[in-house]
Amino acid sequence: MADFDVIVVGAGNAALASAVSATENGAKVLLLEKAPVEMRGGNTHWSGGVFRFAFDAPRDLEFLLAGIENTYPRFYEGVTPYTYDDFMGDLQRLTGGQTDPELSEILVSNSRDTVQWMHDVGKIPMEPAIGLSGVEKDGVIQFQRGMVVRAEHEGVGLSKSWFATAESMGVEIRYESAAVELLQNTKGRVSGVRVRGPDGVEEVTANAVILAAGGFEANTHMRAQYLGAPWDQAKVRGTPHNQGDGLRMALDIGAMAWGQWSGCHSTPISADWGHFAPRELTDKSNRLSYLYGVLINRLGKRFLDEGLDMQLFTYAKYGRIILNEPGGMAFQIFDQKTVHLLEPRYSTSEPIAADTLPELIDKLDIDDKPQAVKTLEDFNAAAQGPENFDPSQKDGVSTSGLDIEKTNWGLKLDKPPFHAYTVTGGITFTFGGLKIDGQARVMGTDWRPIPGLYTCGEMVGGLFHDNYGAGSGLMSGAVFGRIAGRSAASEKS
Ligand SMILES: Cc1cc2nc3c(=O)[nH]c(=O)nc-3n(C[C@H](O)[C@H](O)[C@H](O)COP(=O)(O)OP(=O)(O)OC[C@H]3O[C@@H](n4cnc5c(N)ncnc54)[C@H](O)[C@@H]3O)c2cc1C
Repeated sequence: MADFDVIVVGAGNAALASAVSATENGAKVLLLEKAPVEMRGGNTHWSGGVFRFAFDAPRDLEFLLAGIENTYPRFYEGVTPYTYDDFMGDLQRLTGGQTDPELSEILVSNSRDTVQWMHDVGKIPMEPAIGLSGVEKDGVIQFQRGMVVRAEHEGVGLSKSWFATAESMGVEIRYESAAVELLQNTKGRVSGVRVRGPDGVEEVTANAVILAAGGFEANTHMRAQYLGAPWDQAKVRGTPHNQGDGLRMALDIGAMAWGQWSGCHSTPISADWGHFAPRELTDKSNRLSYLYGVLINRLGKRFLDEGLDMQLFTYAKYGRIILNEPGGMAFQIFDQKTVHLLEPRYSTSEPIAADTLPELIDKLDIDDKPQAVKTLEDFNAAAQGPENFDPSQKDGVSTSGLDIEKTNWGLKLDKPPFHAYTVTGGITFTFGGLKIDGQARVMGTDWRPIPGLYTCGEMVGGLFHDNYGAGSGLMSGAVFGRIAGRSAASEKS
């Protein structure tokens, strides 16, 4: 007789969704968290708590945001429907058609129902994602497509609610308890885990194990190995505990690697931050308002189209591009026409300010300052006035005549004082993972499921490639976590 029906490894969104789902389906569940209690919750705690999910009409969100019009009377006027086709189209477009067809279908088609389940069963209160995705226009907050709802109090609230629900349902949670190895019986069935806890190493048995231990983003050795230079030097945006343990343990018993192991989610963050983002500042490291400004590198040159799309469709690939620039850094420059549009989290840094562009450049750590001044002068000569500027959507206000055009929000920098922020590319999570089937069973390299082994969250390979639409990570974790929990519970003896 096993100690538990199901062991869940990890304590982020995916782990807790799976633990709650397994419990809901009658299983006795043990959840192992490597981190101490004060560091619990993985990247989920650090996250913005936003969920991307499909819905057909703005009022379909009423089930999550009851009474929202009492606070924002014209709330639903600013919400655009985000259908199955919209979500699937974005996933396809952003991944260059590389997203796994079976997994993406499961993700998108289960997204709305799973958010409802998180709300109803997971007891996770939701709120509008104002501040991250909303821009006010004519008295209405316009939300970016598919990015309307987040957990109340963002990732901190999400994590806290999940733990409270799991505890109230009777899930046993052990902290400072790292799974170090998967146990298998003679038939090859996963029968438990070896755990390194506060008092030493022990074996705990179960009918099924769900790995939800995150990716390898915090492991400099694995980053160098799979992502290559300069990723071993990247600053980590989230938990220091996602060291690839779950992936390693699964690969060790013959699990199949799947998806883009050379790829990761990375965003422009403040270059002033240390090697790991402080837990109390969660996702405030991000610097995503570059679409309203100009980005130059240490050679004094622009190197990408800051206005290619709304930031939540470009941020996940621009981190990588910045990290690969000289010194792994760049400078975001704004004038007074747009500084009020910067996300509130910019306030965790002091801008470098000056009354003229040459004075500003003089204060920045740029190797070729004359080139930088010329770049900004050339930019201004090719840019437009503010007449047709619309920060709430792609406005087509493009520069004209530059090697790299800024194709939207292409305003001149001409209203001092000018502000600059130094940014780098910070790693969020890795895209490479394990191959699973539609029941979240981990597949072996023999293309057969490894009995008793499931996975979910960042450990699932194949969904994301090169780029990513904000809010998809938590959604994927919840969808596949719920499925993994249900499937694992069905193995109960
Ligand atoms: C700053 C930031 C902002 C983000 N914002 C958003 C957002 O708004 N929306 C969105 O969709 N996504 C967002 N993401 C991405 C999102 O946080 C992740 O996709 C998601 O949290 C991953 O969930 P997970 O459960 O797979 O992993 P995690 O939440 O990282 O949990 C992994 C868990 O495994 C534990 N663990 C690791 N190894 C072991 C071991 N050997 N034994 C036991 N436990 C172990 C860790 O301690 C941790 O508890 C953000 C990420 C960051 C860093």
